[in-house]
Amino acid sequence: MSHVVVIGGGPAGSTVATLLRRAGIDVAIYERATFPRAHVGESLLPATLAILDEIGVLDAVAAEGFTVKAGATMAWGNTSEPWSWYFRETNQRYPTSFQVWRPRFDQILLDHSRACGARVYENTPVRRVVFDDDRAIGVELQSGETIIADAVVDASGQQSLIANQKNLKVWDDFFKNLAVYGYFENCDHLDAPDDGNIFIESFEHGWVWKIPLADRRSSVGFVVDRDFGAAEIRKRGVDSFFADQLSATHRTKALIGDAHRTGDLNVTRDWSYVAREMAGPGFTLVGDAACFVDPLFSTGVHLAVSGAHLASALVVTEHDDPDLAAEARTTYERLYRTQYDHFHELARLFYAGNRGVDSYFWETRRITKDDRPPRQAFIRAVSGQAAIGYERSVLAHGELPEALTRAIEEQPAVETKPTPDRPRLADGLELIRTAVLGADRFERGYVVRGREREDVPVSPLIAHLVHRADGSKTLADHIENIARDNGITIDAAAAPLERAAELLTRDNVFV
Ligand SMILES: Cc1cc2nc3c(=O)[nH]c(=O)nc-3n(C[C@H](O)[C@H](O)[C@H](O)COP(=O)(O)OP(=O)(O)OC[C@H]3O[C@@H](n4cnc5c(N)ncnc54)[C@H](O)[C@@H]3O)c2cc1C
Repeated sequence: MSHVVVIGGGPAGSTVATLLRRAGIDVAIYERATFPRAHVGESLLPATLAILDEIGVLDAVAAEGFTVKAGATMAWGNTSEPWSWYFRETNQRYPTSFQVWRPRFDQILLDHSRACGARVYENTPVRRVVFDDDRAIGVELQSGETIIADAVVDASGQQSLIANQKNLKVWDDFFKNLAVYGYFENCDHLDAPDDGNIFIESFEHGWVWKIPLADRRSSVGFVVDRDFGAAEIRKRGVDSFFADQLSATHRTKALIGDAHRTGDLNVTRDWSYVAREMAGPGFTLVGDAACFVDPLFSTGVHLAVSGAHLASALVVTEHDDPDLAAEARTTYERLYRTQYDHFHELARLFYAGNRGVDSYFWETRRITKDDRPPRQAFIRAVSGQAAIGYERSVLAHGELPEALTRAIEEQPAVETKPTPDRPRLADGLELIRTAVLGADRFERGYVVRGREREDVPVSPLIAHLVHRADGSKTLADHIENIARDNGITIDAAAAPLERAAELLTRDNVFV
């Protein structure tokens, strides 16, 4: 049986370990801390809940009594009044998320991995990853012991063990900030229905978050330019710096009032980065070990757990189908970077200018190339997406599982375009055979690829349609020909092909 070492037991490490156990793979997590351990990053996205549900831990998280997060409220841009959005506007399946106490949340996920059969070694730091040429073959613990493994997953968070060891980190020049945060008791929260929302306020030197946690506790943190922050903290000390920033805000200071701070303030480097290489022979980087985006839209835990979903699929593929491993690694990076790029561009948009609210919505629509009304496009973008869009599943599998049909039906209606009489593949797009994400591994399959757009995976049946769609024949002719060539009835071919043509038209793949 294959043996996998996971470095780090945060959300990325525990999720990847649980998924690997489910695939029957032997997993050991080496975690340097003893849980529960402190961690920043309390505000979750609804798309994260879909993954927690999939790995069987959502009920335990929901039972914990964390604050229910309906959405976010921002005092940002050139409008004087704060503005809110709600996840339920675009997601009926997971209309809310949670504001979690990370020490407890991370412990629930790690305990779940253990219950699923992962061996968890806490208080066991890994010193380095052991390579034989460019293949990872195990890890060396701080104690000096070497553990040999078939695969190593680096989920060591910002410690980024492999990226540092191999000098892979590419820092983002735009996001070089510093965060100062602490926890307060008995703050006011926003008025209902926004009382569970994260509140974000921009001010002269940067922005501040206030996250309502259970028991009237709040997480409050400032993100400021690193040079400004470092110089001021050096000059006046962190407590006085924090107090000055707070007094420069309009609304946050009113919510905090004279609430009591518990514990010390924390200062942390808040620089965005992405690893030049996210996977190689025998190793995979995931979560903050692979990339980190400025926390404005609370995307870190989602990138960690959705990345874990992809990482587990990659490790399973390397084990079961080594011939596909290199291509699977390319697809892994492509899918991961697409999510990273979206979140990165969104944060950049908000940092770049003092716009009107509608303009943020329109710009988001442009960045994500989503045809929905601008406000919906924005909310979908900041809610996170599951690793494979639900609506794409019909293209990847040829038919839609019942649960996914429900999920699509629950989505607000999207403007539909009539399928063209004689469908043609849009200019600049091509059908490629490559590694595509399946249920729990990468598989050989087809995608439609074009510059500056996400790959659209298509099933072999639908690949026939894409391959033939040159504008010369009607959809009915294609269905008849594909049915004949594949030895299936026209009725069996018609349903998935008509639905696929509809979605491909909506996605501007067919014109
Ligand atoms: C200021 C700030 C605010 C943020 N706010 C949010 C937010 O509101 N919402 C959100 O979703 N995200 C937020 N984030 C991001 C979020 O904290 C991270 O993206 C998330 O924790 C990543 O999960 P992970 O599992 O990759 O890493 P981590 O959660 O950091 O876990 C890594 C684990 O690896 C262990 N480890 C490290 N080195 C070793 C080693 N050598 N050997 C063994 N174990 C090791 C660590 O002890 C740790 O437990 C914020 C980040 C910052 C900096």
